[in-house]
Amino acid sequence: MSVAIVWFRNNLRLHDNESLTKALKNHSIVIPFYCFDEILFSTTKFGYPKIGVHRAQLLIESVQNLRENLRKVGSDLVIRVGNTASYLKHLSLETNATTIYTQKEITFEEVELERRVERVFNGSIEYAYDAFLFHPDDIPFALEDTPFIFTSFRKLLERNTSIRPCIALPSKLNNLSNRIQKGTIPSLNDFKFSNPIKDNRSVLAFKGGEDEANNRLNHYFYESQELLLYKEKRNGLIGADYSSKLSVWLWNGCISPRHIYWEVKRFEHEYYSNDSTYWLIFELIWRDFFKYTALKNGNKIFHSYGINGHQNLVNPNPEFVNAWIRGKTGIPFIDANMRELAATGFMSNRGRQNVASFFVKELQQDWRVGAEYFESMLLDYDVCSNYGNWMYIAGVGNDSRDRFFNVILQAKNYDSQGEFVRLWIPELNNVEKKEVHHPWASPKTLFNHLDVVDYPKLIILPPDYWKKHY
Ligand SMILES: Cc1cc2nc3c(=O)[nH]c(=O)nc-3n(C[C@H](O)[C@H](O)[C@H](O)COP(=O)(O)OP(=O)(O)OC[C@H]3O[C@@H](n4cnc5c(N)ncnc54)[C@H](O)[C@@H]3O)c2cc1C
Repeated sequence: MSVAIVWFRNNLRLHDNESLTKALKNHSIVIPFYCFDEILFSTTKFGYPKIGVHRAQLLIESVQNLRENLRKVGSDLVIRVGNTASYLKHLSLETNATTIYTQKEITFEEVELERRVERVFNGSIEYAYDAFLFHPDDIPFALEDTPFIFTSFRKLLERNTSIRPCIALPSKLNNLSNRIQKGTIPSLNDFKFSNPIKDNRSVLAFKGGEDEANNRLNHYFYESQELLLYKEKRNGLIGADYSSKLSVWLWNGCISPRHIYWEVKRFEHEYYSNDSTYWLIFELIWRDFFKYTALKNGNKIFHSYGINGHQNLVNPNPEFVNAWIRGKTGIPFIDANMRELAATGFMSNRGRQNVASFFVKELQQDWRVGAEYFESMLLDYDVCSNYGNWMYIAGVGNDSRDRFFNVILQAKNYDSQGEFVRLWIPELNNVEKKEVHHPWASPKTLFNHLDVVDYPKLIILPPDYWKKHY
């Protein structure tokens, strides 16, 4: 009887899972395994916890749901906390497993972990590229020729590559021997977190797991049909349905991008197709773009000069960083977004673009510090999307133009009634409506306005800040 281990990583699902399907096809006994690796609970280079409480909770829920779903098909999930390589070694010796099936990850720490496992495991390791929309074996260019510009990348792929069909759900798995200790699911306390306080201003009461991912997709596509409005609403700031929120399940693979793609196609076939239905796929191609950019450029995506060698002006200032993190810069639009992130782990795409631009271009801080803070805090943190977007905005990525977001104008355009800033900065509610209507009209109004509401004084911005914008 041949035995295989399926090492779940950022593919915490049963559907469309190549590793699981291949293992079931080739082996009579399959042992599903997940380890909360110790590295996840260390700190980043600039000293932030690698995983914050919101994402830690989501991850625990995702693993719990994976175990439930594996039990429904007759199996279970072996769960460990600590050193993945060492646990895999012991499990393989204990069970005589000859092969490990797992998802191929592509960034530094994740690949390092693969190397550690390869060093201690005597059998073979079968990797699957299951986190991509366009499978790396199907792309019409060599990795080193991955286009630098998104539009070229997208057009090449759309014209020459089709998306693979999803792999069917396995209906039955073998029982796991009673001799194998299954392990318990850790709690937040085990990772020294206290339970996060629920904030009812959160865009959604997020819960991890494959089932929740499917519920969200069903709601957004079929029940509310908000998908039809995606392109118009995707720059929103408040509420569950201005965008799909599927990133919260994509990062750890509770849902596959291929599955989302084929559901869009089904929706278009059964209901309606418009610019919005296409645009969701367009955004998923951005996600792939950053993965391919990481594959092509390796560790350059973590360097201050990024993938294009441009150097930003950096004046390290811990006070600025602190004010940005705490949502106390004195710019309501920035502060509201940063407070939302701290309280809920989520921030809209519009918000992310603005706070990142503000951090790099106005506060002149090292973009990697901001990226690491996002890494720590975001519910949907994904190495490639996070570092790719940060590089892009810092001007060291796929867009080498030195562009910046005028955060005052952005606030006027996207939060014209000040609803979003008042939601996250309740102090602003004490001010007469006429005063808050356009608090960003000019620096003078801004200062007056802030004085009135006893809002924290502006931190000292670079001297040419206002000159640059007015
Ligand atoms: C500074 C910065 C950091 C970011 N960090 C992350 C991150 O760590 N993880 C992450 O998933 N996204 C990141 N993004 C991209 C984007 O903001 C989120 O994917 C999006 O806001 C998630 O919400 P949604 O699922 O409702 O997106 P939707 O608008 O519904 O889009 C659907 C899907 O398309 C993909 N997508 C959309 N926009 C982008 C984009 N700009 N780049 C890559 N993929 C995209 C996501 O997978 C998303 O779930 C970042 C953007 C910026 C500007």
